[in-house]
Amino acid sequence: MKPPFPAAMGLYGCPTTVNNVETIAGVPTIMRRGGAWFAGLGRPKNAGTKIFCISGHVNNPCNVEEELGIPLRELIEKHAGGVRGGWDNLGAIIPGGASSPVLNKAMCDTQLMDFDSLAASKSMMGSGAIIVMDKSVDVVKAIWRLSKFFKHESCGQCTPCREGTGWMMRQMDRIVKNKATLADIHLLEQVTTQVAGHTICAFGEAASWPIQGMMRAFRPEVEARATDYQPPVQAQAAE
Ligand code: SF4
Repeated sequence: MKPPFPAAMGLYGCPTTVNNVETIAGVPTIMRRGGAWFAGLGRPKNAGTKIFCISGHVNNPCNVEEELGIPLRELIEKHAGGVRGGWDNLGAIIPGGASSPVLNKAMCDTQLMDFDSLAASKSMMGSGAIIVMDKSVDVVKAIWRLSKFFKHESCGQCTPCREGTGWMMRQMDRIVKNKATLADIHLLEQVTTQVAGHTICAFGEAASWPIQGMMRAFRPEVEARATDYQPPVQAQAAE
């Protein structure tokens, strides 16, 4: 139960600093080469390096430390052997673990991998776990699978998360099965904003952001699955 937070009362009831291994592992090199060296890597306010774990449809899945601010495409081509079938076969990338909002290919073309650049794309660095999906992937179904994961992982302590994750998963299930209407899709988007920011821990955001990202980056693909979807008039004329 929080508060108290670890900084006030942690291990043995004492003020405690919690760091991840990645942070501690960087300390010896920074001590040897100096803070100015480390601050010289990356871009302003986004200095240093990051460990990325690149998985999915790449030729050489890997774990690699790189300078912050590296273009996403360069990161994947330099270390992971590129996207399976080439960059043009890219469908989508989740840039920072399951909760980070998905990016479509157009976004990936110019995406820089640092905190501010990803925030500008309404996504986030998160854990640095990059999931690459080529064009064979049904992105809507992939996000449904994530919502199933989040539903399973909810601890059930607070109502918006306990009820919301199950509701969002069932709504995603209906979209995948072409059983949702456009109104259902809009309602789902609204409900994600009622879960995120209204829970005890950050899990409410983590469960909502993948769906919100899908709505931003793949809206046409989502709406095309609605039972009452009508193609745009221009497209009808061209058929
Ligand atoms: S938001 Fe956190 S505390 Fe609340 S039910 Fe979800 S996992 Fe549990």
